[in-house]
Amino acid sequence: MLQTSQDPLFPGRVIVDLGAIAENLEVLRSFAPGVAQMAVVKADAYGHGLLPVAMAALQAGATWLGVAQLAEARALREGLDAAGIDRSAAPILAWVAPSGADWAGALEAGIDLSVSWTWVLAEICAAARVTGIRARIHVKIDTGMSRAGSTRADLPALVAAVRMAEEDGLIEVVGAWSHLSRGDDLSEDGRASTAAQVEVFEQGLRSFADAGIKPRIRHLSATSGILWHPEAHYDMVRAGIGMYGLSPDPLTARGAALGLRPAMTLRAPLTSVKVVEDGAPASYGGTWRAPGRRWLGLVPLGYADGILRAGSNGAPVLVEGRKAITTRVVGRICMDQFIVDLGAAEGEPGAPSARSGRAPARVGDTATLFGDPDRGAPSADEWAQAAGTINYEIVTRLGERVPRVHLSAAE
Ligand SMILES: *Cc1c(COP(=O)(O)O)cnc(C)c1O
Repeated sequence: MLQTSQDPLFPGRVIVDLGAIAENLEVLRSFAPGVAQMAVVKADAYGHGLLPVAMAALQAGATWLGVAQLAEARALREGLDAAGIDRSAAPILAWVAPSGADWAGALEAGIDLSVSWTWVLAEICAAARVTGIRARIHVKIDTGMSRAGSTRADLPALVAAVRMAEEDGLIEVVGAWSHLSRGDDLSEDGRASTAAQVEVFEQGLRSFADAGIKPRIRHLSATSGILWHPEAHYDMVRAGIGMYGLSPDPLTARGAALGLRPAMTLRAPLTSVKVVEDGAPASYGGTWRAPGRRWLGLVPLGYADGILRAGSNGAPVLVEGRKAITTRVVGRICMDQFIVDLGAAEGEPGAPSARSGRAPARVGDTATLFGDPDRGAPSADEWAQAAGTINYEIVTRLGERVPRVHLSAAE
């Protein structure tokens, strides 16, 4: 662990409300009642902190954990083991399968593995022979994303290989699964695409059944499927972005309208509050000029912390000074800092800041980049819009050096 990532002197903070995580999982369960729930905690739990989020999710009723990378799965297992959580109570699925991975280590850590191709199966079976541990696999079908998953043409060979490995006692087929590519698209075209993807999934399931392969858990839906495609819920759903309190597509439905509450708040104390003269350029390139004498605040977070530079000149910030001011980033976001406009300053041109009327905020006052809009904070959705991206990227890109503070459900 990098010391800087835990540096208590780093000024910014990511506050993660684990109570919101628990509530959001409950909300998502109301959309998919009676179906097992996998909490997706890849990418350091979308930037929220792998282990605390995983533990909170398990406590809140999720019965599975999902990650992309094997390294994340191993770190997660280590943390859960250390916390005394029984492996059978916390199955972990890892779905990125690089050739030559430490499959034996994965089996020893009790990690479920995704199989899309016969060569992956061969590598996993070799590890099963070496370790004497039967591999738990989830066979993945490519239903229309062309990412991982077996294409229809490759499926017969994969089915035959799975069948043989199962007969040899090397694997147990725990799941059959896929991932929707347009679950958040409720246009006629989007719905037709999802229907076609469900049909391809069904065909794949029939191929397994015909070969006598009986996956216990069929799973297809991420958050968008949970919310908008009940026909795709099957035996388990995989909750990612919704668990963190964000909508998979705010244009289709805003998080608050779905009953979701953002778990993450990003904030930092102002490190400067000063007056600049009319026309003063702000930050590199002088892309913003003060429209009159202005109070400017300085926030000690930048693109090295994952504050997307594309949010320059526009992303919203709440400053809680003498009163709450919802303002914007002005000028370009720098590596470690950015500037916010705090409003018009009184006083004569050239007068020191101290003689320019009452400062709207002081050094040390809190600037909130995003958090729960119900509490007056801008939303990750607004940051996404300002930076030309999606809320997923806003939260997952947050730098490791910004300390995470986890509020337990009771706080
Ligand atoms: C990331 C991911 C999820 C979770 O998606 P959300 O849209 O965040 O709910 C589920 N399944 C797979 C395969 C993923 O990669």
